[in-house]
Order: sequence, then structure tokens, then C-alpha cells
Amino acid sequence: MSTERFQTVLLFGAPGVGKGTQGRILGQIPGFYHLSCGEVFRSLDINSPEGREVCRYTSKGMLVPDEITIQIWKRHLDGLRMLSYFKPYEDLLILDGIPRNRAQAEILEQYVEVLKVIHLKSVDTEAMIHRIRRRAIRDNRVDDAHEDIIRKRFGIYEAETRPVLEFYTPRLITEVDAIGSPSDVLLKVLQCVVPVQNRHFRNEED
Ligand code: ADP
Repeated sequence: MSTERFQTVLLFGAPGVGKGTQGRILGQIPGFYHLSCGEVFRSLDINSPEGREVCRYTSKGMLVPDEITIQIWKRHLDGLRMLSYFKPYEDLLILDGIPRNRAQAEILEQYVEVLKVIHLKSVDTEAMIHRIRRRAIRDNRVDDAHEDIIRKRFGIYEAETRPVLEFYTPRLITEVDAIGSPSDVLLKVLQCVVPVQNRHFRNEED
């Protein structure tokens, strides 16, 4: 069973810390496939019953219930595999925004083998809130537009998501300072993920 699980690196951290930015850049590099759970939700048809159900939670800054989350996420990933966008034998999967609580971490174990958790850290919550408010305008995100909803997401992160770190053995976790320009942070992220990729994926020329 373990050979069937996707080789995966988790981008982990509070809202606005830069998981999406780093994930998108990594996803441009051959051999990495980035999948953001928040983006999967935002790609749903907003007028479908499922899209409306998900929006009921995201618009309030609440976590979407685990069963719906895993079901939608897995279906999306299966679709990407079927279309050969994501190639599990070539690509290291970079997940962002999932797991967001312990129950999700446990369920995910059947699908992914977590090789590394990159914990993007910033002590400056106010700076992150500022980033999120800028993003609200750029990306037209309702959940980013209201300060009370943003603060609620930070509360949920502390209460439910941060404890997910205890689920993984400490040697899998690398802390990366998320303060700095995207390229500053990228340098540190690459130092962490490139050796993982080299260990698990061999080029044909090798
Ligand atoms: P951010 O990292 O700024 O919180 P995301 O795009 O990752 O933004 O997530 C946006 C929203 O989507 C979250 O606030 C939550 O409502 C919902 N969401 C994303 N991923 C999950 C998940 N794994 N489980 C439950 N809800 C999720």
C-alpha cells in the first residue's frame, strides 16, 4: 500500500504566511505539483449545491467539514491524475491548506506519504493580516475582505491546525522563517524540498 501513496511535502502555516505563493512558484518547476485545498474550493461552481455548501463555511472563515473536504480534494486530485497533469511517479506533490486538523491528517495518511512538513513561520500576525487584506482586493476573496473573518481564521488555526504538527514526527518538520521577500523565502524552501525530491525521484538520465 505504501508504494501507492503519493510522495508529498506539506506547506504548513497560518493564513497569509505565504503557503500559496511558495506553492505556486514550486509548482512551476518540473518535478513538483502544487495543490492548494483553498483553490480547489474556489474552483467549484459557486451555484452548484456543493459550491454553495462549501461557501457557507469559507465565507465565514470556518473550516469546511472534514468529510466534504476530503471528498472534494480527493476527487480533484483523481481528476488531475487522470488528465496526467499530476504524475505521481514524476512529481513530488506539494500540498497546501490540507490537513487543517488532526482528523484530516489521519485520513490523508491513506493517500499520501508525507516526506517533509515545511512550517512557514511568522511572529508578525499584523503583517499577515495586512497581506491578506491586500490579497482580498487582488483575488476578489470574500473571506479576506473582513477583518473579523480574518481574525477568526487565525483563531481556528491556533486551536485546530497548529496542533497537526504534533501528528508528524519532529524529524519531518522544518521550520522556515516566512519573513522576507518571496525569493528570500523560496531559497529556504528549495533548500528543504530539493534534497527530498532528489531522494525520491530519479531522472531517467541518472
Ligand atoms: P488561507 O491560507 O489564507 O487560510 P486558503 O485558501 O488555504 O487560505 O483557505 C481558504 C478557506 O478555505 C479557509 O479559511 C477554509 O474555510 C477553507 N479551507 C481550505 N482548506 C481547508 C481544509 N483542509 N479543511 C477545511 N476547510 C478548508
